[in-house]
Amino acid sequence: MDYTKLPVFAEAEVVVCGGGTAGAFAAKAAADMGRDVIIVEQFGSLGGTATNGLVLPIMHTHIPQNPQCSYISNIVRDKMIALGAASANGANFDPIVLKAVLEGMCDEAGVKILLHTFIAETIVNDGKLEAIVVANKNGLGLIKGKMFIDATGDGDICVRAGAGYTKGNPETGKNQPISLRYMVSNVDIEALAEFVKELAEKTGKNSGVSYGNGDVYVACCAGDKWTFSELFDEAIANGDLTEEDKAYWQGFMVTGRKNTLAFNNPEFFDEVDGTDPTHLTKTQIAGKQRILRQLQFYKKYLKGFDNAYISDIAAMVGIRESRNIETEYVLSASDLLRRVKFDDMFCQSNYPVDIHGKVLHCENIKEPVNDGKPWYEIPYRSLVVKGFDNLFITGRCLGAEFLAQSSLRVQHSCRASGEAAGIASAIALDKGILPREINGADVRNVMIEKGAFFVL
Ligand SMILES: Cc1cc2nc3c(=O)[nH]c(=O)nc-3n(C[C@H](O)[C@H](O)[C@H](O)COP(=O)(O)OP(=O)(O)OC[C@H]3O[C@@H](n4cnc5c(N)ncnc54)[C@H](O)[C@@H]3O)c2cc1C
Repeated sequence: MDYTKLPVFAEAEVVVCGGGTAGAFAAKAAADMGRDVIIVEQFGSLGGTATNGLVLPIMHTHIPQNPQCSYISNIVRDKMIALGAASANGANFDPIVLKAVLEGMCDEAGVKILLHTFIAETIVNDGKLEAIVVANKNGLGLIKGKMFIDATGDGDICVRAGAGYTKGNPETGKNQPISLRYMVSNVDIEALAEFVKELAEKTGKNSGVSYGNGDVYVACCAGDKWTFSELFDEAIANGDLTEEDKAYWQGFMVTGRKNTLAFNNPEFFDEVDGTDPTHLTKTQIAGKQRILRQLQFYKKYLKGFDNAYISDIAAMVGIRESRNIETEYVLSASDLLRRVKFDDMFCQSNYPVDIHGKVLHCENIKEPVNDGKPWYEIPYRSLVVKGFDNLFITGRCLGAEFLAQSSLRVQHSCRASGEAAGIASAIALDKGILPREINGADVRNVMIEKGAFFVL
């Protein structure tokens, strides 16, 4: 099919593909730089994994000052707090309110938001993206642009355009486990907290739980050291749960949603390719059945769930890792573990390697270099797609090796990467230069001028 003959649905200077965390931040940043921006998203709201995937809270950077390498993060935090929908540092939040906040923020910045539109193909000419091919209620059409930012989380645009990529754990070829998250409301939190406290005393294990001040956090993973381990074993022996339910289980309170817990499970370990629609479909369907089973377990074995009900199940399957795109610089496992510093860095983090189910064999590079700066950095060049003149990759699928990605996939870095890509797209247009010709320090300086914080 000759896609060039399709009708042009829209045109903008900067086309942001995918409206998740990185996409929303990229669109706002490019618009704040005075550029004409469109953001294209397949679902009915912005926020992606953070909203439609119900993923919270934002993980701490594990750097003492917890630098928010994003000025937009401050704006979102303040707005969410004003709405009673985020904790004081913005880390815990109501994912439903976040959708509205991100959309309002982009709208106010002048971004054109196009929802319910799937990006299926690209038109590339000699290393330059000319248009994306989209499908929506109007059929197939083109969205043309000068700069393109792939924020699909899976690098869909880059891959359709022919960019190189890696995928999965190099030791097994498999992607990280995937999860279908859900929320349970009308929980009697005090009764649950008391139960957790008694269970910790009874088992002598106080691992993976915290309770008090109306706040409860519970976690249980495979192994016997967890407060909840024996309770899960009992439920498994009675046929009320399976080993899979015990393999990963974690719940958080949700700021702004009284008496609600958000669960970071059920987790799936086999069919885990986030770019395979059959895997996504199976997880979405099997996940709901497991969620029903887990609620019954809470009611029967825990306290505080008598009148509890499922208040949401993620519309989006939670993908931790799928593809990572080949960029001008690919952040290696060694860079991350050795805490290499980059002149063109746009993000600092010390969030640990976070590979579910298995840890890579990296003994020879495990010890961090003690340079008095206990964090790693992500360079601007890991956003610039190799072999292209107007294409950025941002979010969890930026240029990084599997092990490095397992750390930088958290929302803090996705926010920073979106913001950096949005600013860089505007700088490229302002100066009439290619993304690879931009000095990444210039991007960081704009971020700082606008309120981003780095430990320098
Ligand atoms: C189960 C799970 C638990 C996690 N826990 C935490 C946590 O506790 N704290 C934390 O900080 N991080 C956590 N993370 C990581 C973090 O939430 C994600 O890595 C991050 O939100 C990803 O942001 P993103 O912008 O890269 O991608 P996404 O938010 O996934 O955005 C991609 C967007 O692009 C859209 N899209 C994709 N393809 C197309 C297409 N072809 N056409 C149109 N639109 C498209 C999607 O619909 C989506 O809106 C977790 C992740 C998972 C999966």
